[in-house]
Amino acid sequence: MQKNMLLIGETIENKLSKSSFDLITFIRDIAIINLAKTIMIIPGKDVRTVSEKINQKEGIDTLALEHDSLMYPNPLLLAKALISVISKKLPAYICLSHNMLNCQIAGILAHHLSVPCISAVESFSESDDGDIIFRRSIFNGKLKAEIKPQHIETVIITIISNIPSNPSPIKEFDNRAKVMIEKVYAQENNFIPINIKKREDNDRSLEEAEVIVSAGKGIGKAENISLIQDTASIFNHSTIGASRVVCDLGWLPYSKQIGETGKKVNPQLYLACGISGSTQHLAGIKDAKMIIAINSDPQAVIFNIAQYGIIEDLKTFLPILIKKYQESLK
Ligand SMILES: Cc1cc2nc3c(=O)[nH]c(=O)nc-3n(C[C@H](O)[C@H](O)[C@H](O)COP(=O)(O)OP(=O)(O)OC[C@H]3O[C@@H](n4cnc5c(N)ncnc54)[C@H](O)[C@@H]3O)c2cc1C
Repeated sequence: MQKNMLLIGETIENKLSKSSFDLITFIRDIAIINLAKTIMIIPGKDVRTVSEKINQKEGIDTLALEHDSLMYPNPLLLAKALISVISKKLPAYICLSHNMLNCQIAGILAHHLSVPCISAVESFSESDDGDIIFRRSIFNGKLKAEIKPQHIETVIITIISNIPSNPSPIKEFDNRAKVMIEKVYAQENNFIPINIKKREDNDRSLEEAEVIVSAGKGIGKAENISLIQDTASIFNHSTIGASRVVCDLGWLPYSKQIGETGKKVNPQLYLACGISGSTQHLAGIKDAKMIIAINSDPQAVIFNIAQYGIIEDLKTFLPILIKKYQESLK
């Protein structure tokens, strides 16, 4: 039986976000297994044009779900608007890209529609009986879980962007796909942003750097950022980066955050200092040419992807590295 797939797209300044494009790429492979009919709902204000563009470019049905208040990232309003159209006919899969806003929307949808949700899906495969098995990391990336929804008509999945999908022939979607427009009634609530501004601290140095020395929570305290800076200064074309925890703690600005909800980087060398290697962080560094990790825990997940691993307290190792470099200049 043909299974319907519903993608929830996101727009930034009236353009479909990169992670929404990644969602389409990921779903194309599932579509091969299931011969599914795919529709993307694009909620927002004045999203008709972007819906038409996606329909023409990607060959999938699109539904522009319009209301002025949907331009704001308000999970409750977005979820309510989505429920008003989804609940009429539940699809087999409701797919969102995995980020903070979408995780909140997915939770509200799952609750209101009484359907299960599998979050942070990284890949999938086909089971012997033709169903889909979803894979995600658990225990901070130490284990992989395989999840097969059973006897369930609808499941919500959030998909991690930038994880390569299964290599398989690209399925071209039907080029006679439709564009639909629906004005929804989205009730205002007490969440009304008074202003949305672009971040001024948009530091491009991470995208341009050849060497990134990155700080994780393992640096211990804000004062130790200077150790990371001193280490970066021994390399040409270098800069410092951070895990999200370091930014959450205010040790570095969010413009330095690397990962799924931060920047995706591709330096020649990524030196991870006191970083455990969560899936979300790894999503930002998978294109680095070489990863060297310094971590005092031999079991740290980062060692699974690092080409070189140094099992040591970074406060011991980095001063020695800097000293050796300075001596080499004499
Ligand atoms: C929706 C969502 C999105 C997220 N997006 C991101 C993202 O974009 N980027 C991101 O980074 N995270 C993101 N996170 C958070 C992520 O799940 C992890 O919590 C985070 O990456 C962990 O940061 P960390 O490795 O610095 O800290 P921890 O996981 O606490 O690891 C600290 C490491 O330091 C080591 N250590 C401790 N002391 C020392 C020492 N003296 N010397 C050497 N090593 C030491 C420890 O062994 C440990 O491995 C996201 C989470 C969610 C839910």
